[in-house]
Amino acid sequence: MRELYLRARAKINLTLDVTGKREDGYHDVEMIMQTVNLYDELWIQRIYAPTIRLHSNLKWLPRDQRNLAYQAAQLMRDTYGFTDGVYIYLKKRIPVAAGLGGGSSDAAAVLVGLNKLFNLKITQEELMALGLQLGADVPYCILRGTALATGIGEKLTALAPMPRCWVVLAKPDIYISTAQVYGNLKLENIKKRPSTQQVIEAIQKGELEEVASGLYNVLETVTGKDYEVIGQIKKFLNKHGSLGSIMSGSGPTVFGIFNDKEKARYAARQLREQNMARQVFVTTIFNEER
Ligand code: ATP
Repeated sequence: MRELYLRARAKINLTLDVTGKREDGYHDVEMIMQTVNLYDELWIQRIYAPTIRLHSNLKWLPRDQRNLAYQAAQLMRDTYGFTDGVYIYLKKRIPVAAGLGGGSSDAAAVLVGLNKLFNLKITQEELMALGLQLGADVPYCILRGTALATGIGEKLTALAPMPRCWVVLAKPDIYISTAQVYGNLKLENIKKRPSTQQVIEAIQKGELEEVASGLYNVLETVTGKDYEVIGQIKKFLNKHGSLGSIMSGSGPTVFGIFNDKEKARYAARQLREQNMARQVFVTTIFNEER
């Protein structure tokens, strides 16, 4: 095999709780993660030249060691010592720096892809451990589906699949640094937390409305305070039929859960028309058969 096509899907956080701060500066988190069907596309090729080459439709995205997809290829080469090179074409569709884990998912796809392309026979556990060197969310992006993430996000428990639904994603046109959001979070100021266990039970029962009403992200207290548009989009989605809506990850993307495709599409169209967000998507959740 010399070439592979892969989809690197985005994630949303159904719940996000920060439970502590560690000595090394990382935060302990507890989050329910869900993969969605909005994806970047990757074409990965084995080449004879002993280099890593990366091209993308997004011209301003770094194409060198600063890109997580590049880093993933380099890590695989360094760890498993294959001499052939790798060419990656990355078609970005997931908004960048959005709280949707796009970079982590690209890295995960490269790890999984090179394992197949070079017939390395690395187990999923091993790939996930390797992925952790690239970022806390990379192991989850290898696992995918509905999962509980603890530790810094790397300790994963697969959950029953979330009930089927429609998801509207809206990324307002603002830039937010994940590091800054965590830096500005004062643990002692967290007044409300998600009921993670209750949401897990709602997922197990297949109760979409109960899942939607349990959506909660503690980071919204930081990002939402600085950017009114986040609260405005949430309100707008709820007014237009969403069963619940919150910010994903460290933001600024807001998502709403719908049980009706037409309502989801209408809400998305209205969001675009009213210029509340430039990047708006209607998608579904993704779960693999396990
Ligand atoms: P998270 O939710 O895990 O914090 P995010 O969705 O907020 O991630 P990304 O889209 O992964 O953020 O990008 C964050 C930063 O990483 C950007 O500033 C971008 O320049 C850099 N980056 C490196 N590689 C990639 C990639 N393949 N795709 C997108 N961004 C990348």
